[in-house]
Amino acid sequence: MAPDAPERLVAPGTPGFRCQPQTCDALCCRSPYLAGVSERDVALLREGGEEPLHFLDIDPGQLQELLGQGMRWSQFVTLRQEESRCVFLGEDLSCGAYERRPDGCALYPHRLVFVPPGGDRIASNVESVDLLDLSVRIALGWEPGEPPYVPLVLRDLACPGFTEPPLSSAGYTALLERIWDLDACTNHAWPCERHGDSA
Ligand code: SF4
Ligand code: SF4
Repeated sequence: MAPDAPERLVAPGTPGFRCQPQTCDALCCRSPYLAGVSERDVALLREGGEEPLHFLDIDPGQLQELLGQGMRWSQFVTLRQEESRCVFLGEDLSCGAYERRPDGCALYPHRLVFVPPGGDRIASNVESVDLLDLSVRIALGWEPGEPPYVPLVLRDLACPGFTEPPLSSAGYTALLERIWDLDACTNHAWPCERHGDSA
């Protein structure tokens, strides 16, 4: 969901997150942020009565093509924006599709990445090697993280919501589990509690 913005590793000891709707004007629901959608996201929104041509950034021909493929996505599709705002963003800055919002929206400002056990692929995103070692150790000891790649969480530094007390190890693990359930099943077809046994 995030544009090319700096990201940092989330680990025990890094700031906790709480959305700040009173002070943030929904930065993440406006350009240059674009919310990508999966087939499952679209199905959920359609079940809620939303018209795909209203909420998807595609033209009628592209929609027919996708429907003809049984909605098998071969391209990156995003939510539509009007005047640089997501079509679901209300004047009061609430989300008009909150209960059915895409997983990418629910994930933000976090992102799941998979790295080799040494973690070196995200070395430029870490504040300390010790924190990287710790989060890699936790991920390796956590069942869904199948070596040789381990799941780690990054956060978008542009979000002003990282104002909460530092994460404990238990808090970090709970966050990792939540992010896993939002991301790994949809994007990697691995089992999760949110979506069932498979994507
Ligand atoms: S940018 Fe962060 S604080 Fe602002 S609305 Fe989005 S999640 Fe909340
Ligand atoms: S669907 Fe909701 S949370 Fe997602 S970008 Fe639009 S207004 Fe924001």
